[in-house]
Amino acid sequence: MAGYRIEVDRELCCGAGLCADALPTVFDQDGDGVVVLRDPTPAPNLLPDVEDAEFACPATAIKLHKPEDPAA
Ligand code: SF4
Repeated sequence: MAGYRIEVDRELCCGAGLCADALPTVFDQDGDGVVVLRDPTPAPNLLPDVEDAEFACPATAIKLHKPEDPAA
């Protein structure tokens, strides 16, 4: 799928680091462990991994917007 995008809420992030471990080209962490979004529009082939990261985030700090999503 093309055209999806990611948002992260740094206020919600609890610094667990699961996202950065799973997808280091997309997510990073700053010196305090808070998520830094490196790539808000990753390649289409990474979508399943991004969905997994969104699901796995314990702080629900990752939001995935797909083109068919009215809120995208
Ligand atoms: S998995 Fe969630 S809580 Fe952990 S660093 Fe990433 S955004 Fe933050």
